[in-house]
Amino acid sequence: MITKFIKRILRRDPMVKHTQANNTGAPKRIPKKAHRIDPHLLSKNAVKVTHTLQQAGYEAFIVGGAVRDLALGISPKDFDVATNATPDQVQRLFRKARLIGRRFQIVHVTFFGKGHPEIIEVSTFRALLDNAGDHVAESGRILRDNVWGSQGEDAARRDFTINAMYYDPSSETVLDYHGGMADMQKKTLRMIGDPAKRYREDPVRMLRAVRFAAKTGFELDGATRAPIAKLGKLLNDVPSARLFDEILKLLMSGYSWAAIQGLKDAGLHHGLLPLLDHILDTGADSKGANDFVKLALANTDERIQSGKSVSAGFLFATLLWPDLLKNWKANSAKGMANIPALHDAMDDTIATQSSGMTIQRRFESDMREIWSMQPRFERRVGRYPYRLIESPRFRAGYDFMLLRCATGELSPAIGQWWTDFIATDVTGQDELMASVKNESGNSPSPAKRRRRRKPKAAVPPESAAS
Ligand code: ATP
Ligand code: MG
Repeated sequence: MITKFIKRILRRDPMVKHTQANNTGAPKRIPKKAHRIDPHLLSKNAVKVTHTLQQAGYEAFIVGGAVRDLALGISPKDFDVATNATPDQVQRLFRKARLIGRRFQIVHVTFFGKGHPEIIEVSTFRALLDNAGDHVAESGRILRDNVWGSQGEDAARRDFTINAMYYDPSSETVLDYHGGMADMQKKTLRMIGDPAKRYREDPVRMLRAVRFAAKTGFELDGATRAPIAKLGKLLNDVPSARLFDEILKLLMSGYSWAAIQGLKDAGLHHGLLPLLDHILDTGADSKGANDFVKLALANTDERIQSGKSVSAGFLFATLLWPDLLKNWKANSAKGMANIPALHDAMDDTIATQSSGMTIQRRFESDMREIWSMQPRFERRVGRYPYRLIESPRFRAGYDFMLLRCATGELSPAIGQWWTDFIATDVTGQDELMASVKNESGNSPSPAKRRRRRKPKAAVPPESAAS
């Protein structure tokens, strides 16, 4: 009984030295001159966290994607720290530290600086569970993964060799358990362990493989790629919220177009998100739709790569726009009035998504706002434009409208008109309003306009991309 208890405690307290029981072996120690990580790319806060932990007697490293990006010379978007201190021990060392998660707790240490607050995620070394016991589903999928372990075990449970390196900012040394640095040099993405087993444990790793290949430009190692064709269907068993998060990461990676091509090549897009099927199954009649989506994704990639923000709502609004136009057009053909036809089409388009992965509610309202703003860009009479620029989501609607102009779905002159309208002063705006009147020659006078109850329908969707 007592031995059992002691064993449990030993297992639980990562401060107690573990034997390297799972053949992870000793790591390769890579000095600065070999890894060439530029310390200027490090987050000062992440370094503060590792120093504080080390000064308190713990081991602490920057880990995972941040080390991969640093070794690639890219500035990481966020920093994770791994340590042998328990979450409670970590929390005691920092003023702004919050415990996150129930089963496997991690600590978020927040720093408030000039810009956005920075969160450094600190996790305790975690063990890899073997395929036995109640934490593994029949398919091999791991349901529970919450046992602390040694650093070697922590490295072994990570996905790719290039994601399993530990960087110590104090000694500027990288600890590499699985040949990640050699794979970086070979530009290879290699799964740690037996790829098929690792995909069965967590099918999302297949999507991650595609995402990282697109991001790094690396090739998937043959053995890492091979099982995907057969095991891709296991993604059906993954909870849809998790799948949605991963697809979102993929779309927001700054390399979305390449990643989507990668999904297609790997045969992984079917059934993930109906709109992905849509984008990728290029039919003869969907060329216009593809142009729009391609441009939207290229635009998103460019924004992300240059450090600008992108809202997921905006992105989904663009991806679903060709579908929406089709539905809108169909409704109009049935004789529905223009605006109700648009709103009905929005409902239909969003409902189609529920057959695969539901678009989260919070994005849905953004999408609806962006879409319903579109006809308003063509109403350049009376008070309409003045009111439109005051709407809180104007900027998103405007950016969206510019994309429509770029594919020729909407006249580029309209986009230019709005660009001028928001850049000028009141007199300039009045002149622009007058220019529209002259353009059409038959705009109603303000007095008449005020009297008219029902404004003429604005955008007949004939101009829609097919
Ligand atoms: P990104 O730049 O997209 O954040 P990342 O590699 O940091 O890439 P995260 O999802 O933030 O990806 O995960 C952090 C680290 O956790 C990874 O580098 C990897 O070591 C490990 N990891 C994350 N997800 C998995 C998974 N599904 N299976 C195994 N290890 C994982
Ligand atoms: Mg990360």
